[in-house]
Amino acid sequence: MIAEVVVDIKNKAVNKVFDYTVPEELAHLIQPGVRVLVPFGPRTIMGFVISLKEQTELQNLRPIKELIDVVPVLNDELRELGMSLSEETGSTMIQCFEAMIPNAMRAKYKKKLLCLSDTLSPNLASLFQNSRVIDYEQIPANLLKEVKQAIEHKQVELIYEVKDQLGKKMIKYIALVDPKLDLSSFNRAAKQKQVLEYLIAQPNPVLKSQLMDELQVTHAIMKTLVDKSVIKEIEVEAYRDPYADVVHQQSKALKLNQEQQVAVTTVAHACEENACDIFLLHGITGSGKTEVYLQMIENVLVKGQQAIMLVPEIALTPQIAGRFKSRFQNKVAVLHSALSMGEKYDEWRKILKQEVQIVVGARSAIFAPFKDIGIIIIDEEHEATYKQEEAPRYHAIEVAKQRAITHRCPVVLGSATPSLESFARAQKGVYRLLTLSKRAVSTAKLPTVKLIDMRQHSTVSDQMILSDVLQEAIAKRLERQEQVVLLLNRRGYSNFMQCRECGEVVNCPNCDVSLTYHKPNQKLKCHYCGFESFILRRCPSCQSEELRFFGLGTQKVEEYLQDQFRGARIMRMDVDTTSKKGSHQELIAAFERKEADILIGTQMVGKGLDFPDVTLVGVLAADLMLHLSDFKAAERTFQLLTQVAGRAGRHELEGEVFIQTYSPEHYVMKCVVEQNYHAFYVEEMKMRRRFGYPPYYYLASVMMSSEDYNDLIMACDKVNQYLRNQLGHSCIIVGPTMPYVGRINQRFRMYFMIKYKQEPRLRAILSQLLMYFQEGSVSLSLDFFPNQFN
Ligand code: ADP
Ligand code: ZN
Ligand code: ZN
Repeated sequence: MIAEVVVDIKNKAVNKVFDYTVPEELAHLIQPGVRVLVPFGPRTIMGFVISLKEQTELQNLRPIKELIDVVPVLNDELRELGMSLSEETGSTMIQCFEAMIPNAMRAKYKKKLLCLSDTLSPNLASLFQNSRVIDYEQIPANLLKEVKQAIEHKQVELIYEVKDQLGKKMIKYIALVDPKLDLSSFNRAAKQKQVLEYLIAQPNPVLKSQLMDELQVTHAIMKTLVDKSVIKEIEVEAYRDPYADVVHQQSKALKLNQEQQVAVTTVAHACEENACDIFLLHGITGSGKTEVYLQMIENVLVKGQQAIMLVPEIALTPQIAGRFKSRFQNKVAVLHSALSMGEKYDEWRKILKQEVQIVVGARSAIFAPFKDIGIIIIDEEHEATYKQEEAPRYHAIEVAKQRAITHRCPVVLGSATPSLESFARAQKGVYRLLTLSKRAVSTAKLPTVKLIDMRQHSTVSDQMILSDVLQEAIAKRLERQEQVVLLLNRRGYSNFMQCRECGEVVNCPNCDVSLTYHKPNQKLKCHYCGFESFILRRCPSCQSEELRFFGLGTQKVEEYLQDQFRGARIMRMDVDTTSKKGSHQELIAAFERKEADILIGTQMVGKGLDFPDVTLVGVLAADLMLHLSDFKAAERTFQLLTQVAGRAGRHELEGEVFIQTYSPEHYVMKCVVEQNYHAFYVEEMKMRRRFGYPPYYYLASVMMSSEDYNDLIMACDKVNQYLRNQLGHSCIIVGPTMPYVGRINQRFRMYFMIKYKQEPRLRAILSQLLMYFQEGSVSLSLDFFPNQFN
């Protein structure tokens, strides 16, 4: 028997299927979809068995060394999906397969040196004194040269061992071998006798750790009893359950309002008809989308099918996972990055064994190995986290569509602020639009949103943090013991130049974007056309010398607030305060319990949180993201501001939102105030059309990098010619351009952006490039769903 194996080598040149023979003793165990260990050159590496066959034309095949799995980890559907994903994204097959399984199951290798000869030099012989195999890392640096020669002379061999995989968590139970044991022979071993008496009194096997705890016995005593064959250990697999200690109170389905009911019924209909329709659920913040998802899933479960529910990054929305657990209890597996490797592995295996019916998870949960999917739901579908920014550069929505076709089930994309691409598709009828236009809690109204023109308002201090209006509003909330959420999106690049007098942002003369401050060479640069200028002393518009850089962090704001509002309890939520496992959940829970009055944070505070007593939301520097030189800057700003505004007044208390901005006339700000998605959509579509961006064009990016700048420039020239020759008449080619971060990890970077409407040859043509740049100092990567160009 021959196995076709995709091996664990990331090099694109090795992106093919290799044949191996299957040894007799493995023949009855092996199945497509299992992982194996195979020889590859001098190494032993991991691989996935893609298929089995009777014969091959190839000669001198090497045998598979070992099976890692007995149960396939990739079923037929996922293997096929992996293959097509590899083509779609220009990644290797192995990268795609590895993206589908938990981290814990990816192979890690250790370099070792194997001794082949008895006549080594004294230096080397001393290395192998105790063993014929040593860790490569243990070799002293001064011997490395000698080792290299010995490798060439085949006196020693470099081998790679697959490191221990993360094991299953086993729990040990203890039971008597013979329940009718005679204790008289243990009279002189009091402790042993005590253990046996304890066991005789129990009808069932006893948890080993518990027994040892209760009786205060040592491992030595337990071992003696095992060795005497009077007791035996029984190992049972246990799941590492992150929610083991959490009690989820059972929640019941709410009575839906009319719009919600229409959404649920329409999708249930599509499920009935096995239609792989794509729905866009456009529901304002607080309109009860989550309840709609819960009931859509309920309908699917009733039919005995399974559901995938994607949320942006549950670490960011722990409340949501809780709502699913409360409704569906142990039918839910949860997959997100805040879980430990072991927990993720265990949650994933519950899905593999079809022991759960629902997965709630972040991006990679789209690959959940369910066998009969009835619905795929993607919440906050506009979020950039659904796109993976490393190989394989896939978009979860695109994968969802593909899986939906296989399973013949609908996809539901939900958002208060859909991506422009999705809304445009809904307008064209490619997606089916469902709308929730009212807040679900009847007493809750949308908050009033006001802009604070920072050019007009005096700030309380010269630090330009809080306007007097916002300052007063906060003071009022503190008095009334209501809560305040403040947003400062420090994670955007806060490095643009702006005039304090007239609000002018220093822009590129050639493009409609702001120049970005590049600290290393003290210059302002245009991200799009490459324009550069020295830092200006005077405002180009009003000649004032009040030009400032923007750069303000949450920490600074926290200190400032502490100073302004003595006695107020302030909580900060950003990357720094949430890096510890579970700390994010704790912060949210504490704020929910009203242990703080003010929550200041980065965009994390904008996402999906539901605090009943928050009546004021303040955005400190709304312009930070707006002036990013990125075609999605306006869209992202609108989305974030709308989302964070939606945190206010979600229940009985009325909400108020203040947005501090220097660009109050900008259409994004106007549309946020009116809370009018449609108006924003119309305006933004005009911009996209004018500048030739999605949804009017599709984008692909070709990113190149090299440690050698000259090599890079020369390679760019070649690529430029090639692209223009091959695609020049069907696509718009922009570049080569230096990205915002011109050098990462000692590598210079350049990219091309390809805008296209229809070009069936595109992937093949770019694949050629990829192959060409496998060797040599310049590397090249493709992205067919580029979100940003930095
Ligand atoms: P969204 O996800 O659209 O922002 P949520 O699902 O968080 O909105 O709903 C907001 C609030 O409305 C929640 O407290 C939820 O329990 C409540 N809610 C949702 N649907 C209903 C309903 N049909 N009747 C009463 N309350 C509802
Ligand atoms: Zn000015
Ligand atoms: Zn420019």
